[in-house]
Amino acid sequence: MIHDWSRAQEQQARESLLAGAQRLHASGLNSGTAGNLSLRLPGGLLITPSSLPYDQMGPEDLVAIDHDGRLLAGTRAPSSEWRLHADLLSRRPDIQAVVHCHSAHATALACHGRGIPAFHYMVVQAGGPSIRCAGYATFGSQALSDLAVEALEGRLACLLAHHGQVAIGSSLEQALALAGEVENLARIYGLALALGEPPLLSDAEMDQVAAQMEQRQYGALSAGAGQAASLSSGAAPGSQSQGRPGLAGRPGLSRWATPG
Ligand SMILES: [Zn+2]
Repeated sequence: MIHDWSRAQEQQARESLLAGAQRLHASGLNSGTAGNLSLRLPGGLLITPSSLPYDQMGPEDLVAIDHDGRLLAGTRAPSSEWRLHADLLSRRPDIQAVVHCHSAHATALACHGRGIPAFHYMVVQAGGPSIRCAGYATFGSQALSDLAVEALEGRLACLLAHHGQVAIGSSLEQALALAGEVENLARIYGLALALGEPPLLSDAEMDQVAAQMEQRQYGALSAGAGQAASLSSGAAPGSQSQGRPGLAGRPGLSRWATPG
């Protein structure tokens, strides 16, 4: 059992993460056993194991580790990218989940070291006016984790040069949805590039998009406030994914931390 979690809480987290891993696999965003996912736990994280095919994975195969990679529960080795997951979850208190995958179009751009600029307004979904591409470092290394943390500053997604993409969120569902959106944007950007460099939206235009999205989310949040309150009051102690105040669970939105 993980720290002071009840068996039921631990089982629920394992089933959530497994369902997320299976959704990632079914979405086609991944190839083979390459991707990995994690969910915040008190004192650490629950992460998918190393080199186990998703269709053979059960809840007991998921591994709980602390932020230094020490095993808290489980029998398998954690994903080789555990540093990336642990560092993001410890440096970003605004997030609950990390998704990493080698989706084809995002990875193709990343192989050219290209991020995704403000060519389309939906880029704002990733928390800023661009999706950066982190520099290259060997998979599983501290250097790769450091580069990803930097590229994700004020953002919810980034590409990894010659490697893949990372999406983070205030729930596993949001991180998975964003990984799909990043892949879609990368695909459209690739198509647009085939006709030449597309013109980009200005920072002012992207600011307006962010404001519009916030307003719509705030409206949805207000309209659903009664329901949200009853949901959060019914949440189990230690439940991590509900009732976050502010931008309806979009921690990076409107945070234009660094240009580019
Ligand atoms: Zn990878």
